[in-house]
Amino acid sequence: MEQFGHFIDGAFTTPSNQWIDSVDPAAGTVWCRFSRGDAQDATAAMDAAERAFESGPWSRMSGAERADCLDQVADALARRWEELVEAEIRDNGKRLTEVRGQFAGLDNWFRPFAEKARHISREPQHNAVPGVQSETTYLPFGPVVAITPWNSPLMILAWKMAPALAAGNTMVVKPSEMASASTLLFAQMVHEAGLPAGVLNVVTGYGHEVGGALVRDQRTRMVTFTGSDLGGGKVAAAAAENVIPATLELGGKSPQVVFGDADPDNAVNGILSGIFLSNGQSCVAGSRLIVQASVKDVLVQKLLARVWTLQLGDPMDPETQIGPLANLPHLEKVRAMIARAVDEGATCLLDGREAGRGRAGFYVGPTIFDDVTPTMQLWREEVFGPVLAITTFDTEAEAVQLANDSAYGLAAGVWTSDSDRGARVARQIRAGTIYINHYRSIDPGASIGGLKRSGYGRELGPDAVKHFLQTRSIWTGTAPVPDPFPA
Ligand code: NAD
Repeated sequence: MEQFGHFIDGAFTTPSNQWIDSVDPAAGTVWCRFSRGDAQDATAAMDAAERAFESGPWSRMSGAERADCLDQVADALARRWEELVEAEIRDNGKRLTEVRGQFAGLDNWFRPFAEKARHISREPQHNAVPGVQSETTYLPFGPVVAITPWNSPLMILAWKMAPALAAGNTMVVKPSEMASASTLLFAQMVHEAGLPAGVLNVVTGYGHEVGGALVRDQRTRMVTFTGSDLGGGKVAAAAAENVIPATLELGGKSPQVVFGDADPDNAVNGILSGIFLSNGQSCVAGSRLIVQASVKDVLVQKLLARVWTLQLGDPMDPETQIGPLANLPHLEKVRAMIARAVDEGATCLLDGREAGRGRAGFYVGPTIFDDVTPTMQLWREEVFGPVLAITTFDTEAEAVQLANDSAYGLAAGVWTSDSDRGARVARQIRAGTIYINHYRSIDPGASIGGLKRSGYGRELGPDAVKHFLQTRSIWTGTAPVPDPFPA
């Protein structure tokens, strides 16, 4: 069985004898082991990141040289991404078709931010002080800690790594203890592509152990976290104690608001992609369907007709449309939330627990509840699984009120053929990303991030590199300094 050490300073460390088993969610059996990192491993990784930042070639490179290096990384990913596919599927059960789609585009997250690195420049300031000029310069933070979840480890890492390295920082990555293999292999691959040793280091292990040690290390200058609001709150508290900034990309309970005038087939496609792609294990999962009462029956019939045809199966099979959930604790959580929705009186139109019976892996199929009310757990809490909660509205004001009735604010969908209404409703919904007659797209040019409990800070978008830079003012006297205490 494959056993992984950490990836520190350009090489794998000797695997320790403290292990975390990675279980293949399609089979329910252990397929590889990662090292269970501790404070010493965190220190070793941070030593390497600090060295690479303070005295290694990375800190001496110009923006253009860093850009060339990141372009080389992108070229290697474009050539070799297929080597990473199986590890991620075996770790988290994501379907072959989805993983191939994500990985074939991995290089595209790097190229635009590499290009930005070529244009980081000083900017003159307009000050009113006589006899002195000032300018804004940009400088990297230093070693940045990136903490990532299990659902899309490499794509989420690319969103952090490309702009952070373009800005000139170095990194230590702590992937999820549930899915670390693809991140380790990726680190080796980008190192082979020419990224200097120590610029990207990976330590594996539990969040509260090695993750916490990394955030508390005095040399860590910034933390970028993606995961649950529970984990994010703990990381932000530790970062605050260490007086370093943190950005948090957290969970969601995103609404899909469907008006009576929406094209029903289009809306059904958007609802399906929102909640059943990645088996609902997606931060932007559109898990609350808020539909105008006059069209609910038609829409739900269309939705059910499509969902009944979805093929549940082995994630390695390209025909599979619904794969397993990523791990056993998560399977148990999703099943418990379905049971509670039944107990609380929601009407179960489709119970995905049945689909999993008799299978070795961690399967729950598409699940749909009607008559879900805002006091129910299913309305308020993120399932992170294939469970859709439906409720109805009569007026536009009621639709907006229901959409905003959530602690989260990550994403939202609005479906209507009235463009004025689409724009009006989009303005009123409190979420970091709003899709109108569309759902789920992401692109390096569009920022992502949450409002409310979905987090703070933004990733991607036009300012992605600037988020990993600090500004500094430099003042230069151009005239003699006047005597401050004239007689
Ligand atoms: P999680 O919070 O359990 O873990 C995420 C990472 O944080 C893991 O690497 C974990 O080890 C680490 N961690 C946990 N506690 C820590 C601590 N005290 N100190 C340091 N590190 C700690 O989340 P998960 O279950 O892996 O991922 C699912 C969650 O991620 C969902 O809520 C989902 O919505 C969210 N998510 C958000 C986005 C986004 O872009 N907003 C994207 C993907 C997933």
